Amino acid sequence: MKILVTGGAGFIGSALIRHLIQNTEHSVINIDKLTYAGNWQNLASVSSSSRYWFEKVDICNRSTLISVFEKHEPDAIMHLAAESHVDRSINVSRAFLDSNIIGTYELLEVVRKYYLELKESKKEKFKFHHVSTDEVYGDLENTDKLFAENSRYQPSSPYSATKAASDHLVRAWGRTYDLPFVLTNCSNNYGPHQHVEKLIPKTIFNALDGKLIPIYGNGEQIRDWLYVEDHITALLSVLFNGRVGETYNIGGDNQIRNIDIVKKVLEKLELAAPRHLKTKSRFAKLIDFVGDRPGHDVKYAIDSSKISSELGWKPRETIETGLEKTVSWYLERYLQSANS
Ligand code: NAD
Repeated sequence: MKILVTGGAGFIGSALIRHLIQNTEHSVINIDKLTYAGNWQNLASVSSSSRYWFEKVDICNRSTLISVFEKHEPDAIMHLAAESHVDRSINVSRAFLDSNIIGTYELLEVVRKYYLELKESKKEKFKFHHVSTDEVYGDLENTDKLFAENSRYQPSSPYSATKAASDHLVRAWGRTYDLPFVLTNCSNNYGPHQHVEKLIPKTIFNALDGKLIPIYGNGEQIRDWLYVEDHITALLSVLFNGRVGETYNIGGDNQIRNIDIVKKVLEKLELAAPRHLKTKSRFAKLIDFVGDRPGHDVKYAIDSSKISSELGWKPRETIETGLEKTVSWYLERYLQSANS
C-alpha cells in the first residue's frame, strides 16, 4: 500500500514511518510543514529508501494538498499533523486552531473528493485514520473511572479542545459523506525522538546539564504512559484490521503520577550516566516544584480493552523496559553531541 502520513517529521509520525519502511513493504508519502516540532533528522535512517517520499506541505493549503494527492494516489491516510504541546496552546492558541481544526477540515475535503473518484477496487480498501489523544475526554479528577470510547468529550486546554474539534469533524465527514474513517485516542507517548520541550526528554537533558527540573504544582497529576513503538503497532492494527467508523482507545495501563515518572527517569539516568555527568548531588535533588499549569487536568486513565479484545493488540514494553530504552537513547545522543 501507499500510505500518506501527515506530520511524519514529528515524534510519533517519524516512529510510524521508520516502522513502515524498516519492517513492512508499504510505501510512505510524508507530508509535513516542518514546524519547530518537525525534524527531518528523525527520518535520516529511512529517507534514502525508494519507498519513501517527502513533501513539505501545510495541511491548511488545499491546492497543494490536491496536487500531492494527484501525484501520489495514496491507498490510505494516517493523519498525525498537529500542534501538540499543551503549554504552547495556553500561550499562543491560534496555531492550534489553524493546524488542528482548519488543517483537518482542509484535509478531509481533499480526501472526500479524492475518495469519490477512486476505482471501486481501491475504494474498498481505502481508510482515513485520524490519530488523536485521550485528552479530549478531559479530567477524571481523583476517581477510579477510565476513559472508554463512549466517554463524554470535556476538553480542558486549547490543545485538547482543538483535537476534540478535529475528532468531531472526522466523525461528521464519516456520517455525512460516507468517508471510511477509523479514529484512535491514545494516552501520553514516550520514547526516542520526542521534542525536548516534553516532560521526559526535558527531565533527562536538564538533569545531564545540572539544571533544575520544573514540575507543575504538586506533581500529583496522573497520566497513562505508552512507549511510542507500542502506539505504532496499535495504529497499524487499527488501520489494517479496525472496523470502519469505529474509535479505539489506546493506552499502556501505566497510570503514574508526574512526580513518580520523573523520579523513575532520574533513577534510570543515575544508573546509566557516566560518572563525570552526574552532578555533585543526586539528579533527584534538581526537581523543582513550580506554579501549576492553568486548567491542569488531575488524572487521565484509559481503558484499552476494545482494541485488545477486538484486534488482539497489547503493548510489548513495560514502563521499566520502555524507560530504560528511552533514557539510554537520549543519553547516547547527549554524549555524541558533547563529543562533537
Ligand atoms: P509533534 O509535535 O512531535 O509532531 C507534529 C508534526 O506535525 C510536526 O512534524 C509538525 O511539523 C507537523 N505539523 C504541524 N502543523 C502542521 C501543518 N499545518 N501542516 C503539516 N504539518 C504540520 O507531535 P506528536 O507528539 O508526534 O503527535 C502526533 C499526533 O499524535 C498529534 O496529532 C497528537 O495530537 C497525537 N497524539 C500525541 C500524543 C503524545 O503523547 N505525543 C498522544 C496521543 C496523541
